[in-house]
Amino acid sequence: MKIAIIGGGASGLMAGGFLVEKGHEVTIFDANEKCGKKIYITGKGRCNLTNNCDTQTYLSNVVNGEKFMFSAINGFSTADTINFFEGMGLKLKTERGNRVFPQSDKASDVTKALLSHCKGCKFQLNTLITAVVKKGEQFVLYSQNNQFTFDKLIIATGGKSYPATGSKGDGYKFAQMFGHNIIKPRPALVPIKIKDKFVSQLEGLSLKNVSLNCAFNGKTKQMFGEMLFTADAISGPIALSLSSYISQAQHISLSIDLKPALSQEQLEARLLRDFSVNLNKNISHVIKGLMPNRLVEVFLNKLNLDSTTKVNAIKVEQRKNIVAHLKNFPLEFGGLYGVEAGIVTGGGVDLKEVSPKTMESKLCEGLYFIGEVLDIDCLTGGFNLQTAFSTAYACAKGIN
Ligand SMILES: Cc1cc2nc3c(=O)[nH]c(=O)nc-3n(C[C@H](O)[C@H](O)[C@H](O)COP(=O)(O)OP(=O)(O)OC[C@H]3O[C@@H](n4cnc5c(N)ncnc54)[C@H](O)[C@@H]3O)c2cc1C
Repeated sequence: MKIAIIGGGASGLMAGGFLVEKGHEVTIFDANEKCGKKIYITGKGRCNLTNNCDTQTYLSNVVNGEKFMFSAINGFSTADTINFFEGMGLKLKTERGNRVFPQSDKASDVTKALLSHCKGCKFQLNTLITAVVKKGEQFVLYSQNNQFTFDKLIIATGGKSYPATGSKGDGYKFAQMFGHNIIKPRPALVPIKIKDKFVSQLEGLSLKNVSLNCAFNGKTKQMFGEMLFTADAISGPIALSLSSYISQAQHISLSIDLKPALSQEQLEARLLRDFSVNLNKNISHVIKGLMPNRLVEVFLNKLNLDSTTKVNAIKVEQRKNIVAHLKNFPLEFGGLYGVEAGIVTGGGVDLKEVSPKTMESKLCEGLYFIGEVLDIDCLTGGFNLQTAFSTAYACAKGIN
């Protein structure tokens, strides 16, 4: 069978190899001069290619599309991904949070393994597909100067994030050409803009073991771990994860719990103790013991407290206010960065119109969607690439 794959990214390459080994004639189209351009920048150039976890944990890290992914992840699990790459000769290691990386710390080694899996596939690089139609039983793909005919078509064009890597949202246009509904693309795993002026003062500051709390639409969400201040936003693992839950929310309020391990009462007792042994010291001296130095001034400003105020001059109300702000330091939400800045794109091809077992379109026989073009997005930790691999495998199995 002649099969076209539009997109030589993580999902397209994975599917291509599984199809060519069954004797199909597979052509992978990519607009770039080489395949897997996005893979090179994953995991800060190290590629966190999956998570060494069980299926239930994988599913709990799928923000949108959890039910849909049930079949695909059972067909090709995180353990299958690990076995697959090790079988291709790529040595792997598991780090904090069960994140799996190549031992070499080189994302390019992941691409190399995928390319050798694709041995036997034809590559049409530097070929931007501009339109696709079905004529009778065949799919016709159009590039600027050419047209190509195939029996089956797999759309693996990714989302709209980091468009410089080639993922510009073309797959949505192609899906619409076949009558598919597109859930509006939105940013996911993206920095959260903060309106407070003090944020620029904190640029580069990373807070570890804090809890980022968010209230929206009558709900609350808490993320525990590490976050980072940028010039006008918060980023880092917990801020990025939180963004995926609030991209469609309204009435959002944010705060940081700087001492999540201590209850309000425990913190109050700790502060009283610190006060009692530092009565003649500046308040900044005590506060320094509770947070990174760079945050102290911003924190005290927020409470209208001068850093040189002596501890013995702090009134009970002010002390209670310090505790309240340690547990609940407010940040003024200023919106999310755009979809292009997201690690992944939320939204995409409506899952209701795609078979979760084979990734085949329910509207057009022989048409398949895999990877980020689908309305699926996951948290950080290797879950998005796993989704690309699992959907690719389901599709190849469906065709085979
Ligand atoms: C900075 C960054 C870091 C990330 N790190 C991780 C990580 O460590 N772990 C993880 O699990 N996930 C990570 N992700 C997410 C992950 O990279 C993606 O979810 C995954 O690559 C999606 O794979 P895909 O095959 O669906 O699409 P893509 O990898 O985006 O591939 C799509 C391909 O289609 C091609 N294409 C698009 N339109 C056309 C067209 N019209 N004609 C021809 N070719 C076309 C593109 O050139 C591209 O090569 C990261 C993403 C970013 C941006």
